[in-house]
Amino acid sequence: MKLNKNFKNLTDDYLFAEVSKRVQAYKTEFPNSDVISLGIGDVTQPLPLKIAEACKDAAVEMSTKIGLHGYGPYDGYEFLKNAVVDYYKARKVVIDPDEVFIGSGAKDALGDFLDLFDSDNTVMVPDPVYPAYVDANVMSGRKIVYVDANRENGFLPPPPKRGKADIIYICSPNNPTGAAYSVDQLKEWVDFALDQNAVIFYDAAYESFVSDGRAARSIFEVTGARDCAVEFCSFSKMAGFTGVRCGWTTIPLASPLNRMWLRRQSAKYNGTSYVVQRMAERALRGGLEDSVKTVDYYKTNAKLIMKTFDKLGIEYTGGVNAPYIWFYCGIKSWEFFDYLLKKARIVVTPGSGFGKNGEGWVRITSFNSTDRIDEAMRRFTPFWKEFIETREKLFHLL
Ligand code: PLP
Repeated sequence: MKLNKNFKNLTDDYLFAEVSKRVQAYKTEFPNSDVISLGIGDVTQPLPLKIAEACKDAAVEMSTKIGLHGYGPYDGYEFLKNAVVDYYKARKVVIDPDEVFIGSGAKDALGDFLDLFDSDNTVMVPDPVYPAYVDANVMSGRKIVYVDANRENGFLPPPPKRGKADIIYICSPNNPTGAAYSVDQLKEWVDFALDQNAVIFYDAAYESFVSDGRAARSIFEVTGARDCAVEFCSFSKMAGFTGVRCGWTTIPLASPLNRMWLRRQSAKYNGTSYVVQRMAERALRGGLEDSVKTVDYYKTNAKLIMKTFDKLGIEYTGGVNAPYIWFYCGIKSWEFFDYLLKKARIVVTPGSGFGKNGEGWVRITSFNSTDRIDEAMRRFTPFWKEFIETREKLFHLL
């Protein structure tokens, strides 16, 4: 038996596991402390009732002789694929139902999709980046090259002038920076991918947060994208499905990847739960308004954070098109994390956990109740004022 030696190249802990380890250690030391979590990007609002009712209806249907659903189609039921097609149509993006594959979430699909590619491919990812992209490729031993996302390019790097890539990851709106590409900016990436004969893995998990009309919600809004891109999307943030689990992958029919993915899924996946697919259908049909309301709730929270940051003169990106606000603290991110936890009992995510360019930056999320965000900002304001005054004395400035 030989273990996968690539695991040795992974960092010891997945970023969010390390965050919760430190928070746990703090809570053990101070059991009565009121810690506010603005760290992990998980939803906090309850599922809309209409979606829960779809769950109940589907479960009851399954308890009848004619309503029982066994193994479903590997690529999802037509009713949900068609609902996804209509969701795109509302944004003037035309997709064929056979281009939509239902699965159990974007993270799973983004990792599993790599089965379709040789390990001898060069992967291009922005830095900072959602760590799952890197980990999945490290596990299968692919070469990774980074594109710098930084203050200078507004954390929206254009394609590099030089450098070869086979698989390109783009996450927009971005986790962790909250920055979102416009259609014109994405066109540069599409042209780059076509030129390199590369594939774009476009992670649109946060598309429902887009507020700025200039930002794209789908890579397929871009001319040429159907010849080089695959889109990964999720009900997680759009409809509060992080614990329900459902997402979709859109693969143009003309791409060989479409047939390959169906073949892969038929070998390794037995279909997404019927009940969950009925819930997802409700999230898009009949329940969409409620899902939008929940997203709007998080957007209002983001505005509260941005308002506080504006008052304090903090440098940040994001918040407008994403539940993430990415701000500069000027010291090592993990030092800031520990200090903020100790002084104000607020949990954030250290930017350095997303890549070297994240050093000195911090991700704060709007996923919490408005009350808690309010309270967090009440604590943050005096904390930051004191931090700025003492920063130079207490820390090594970057
Ligand atoms: N993609 C990005 C950029 C994310 O931030 C997340 C979750 O935080 C996911 C994908 C995971 O999505 P899902 O819950 O559908 O697996």
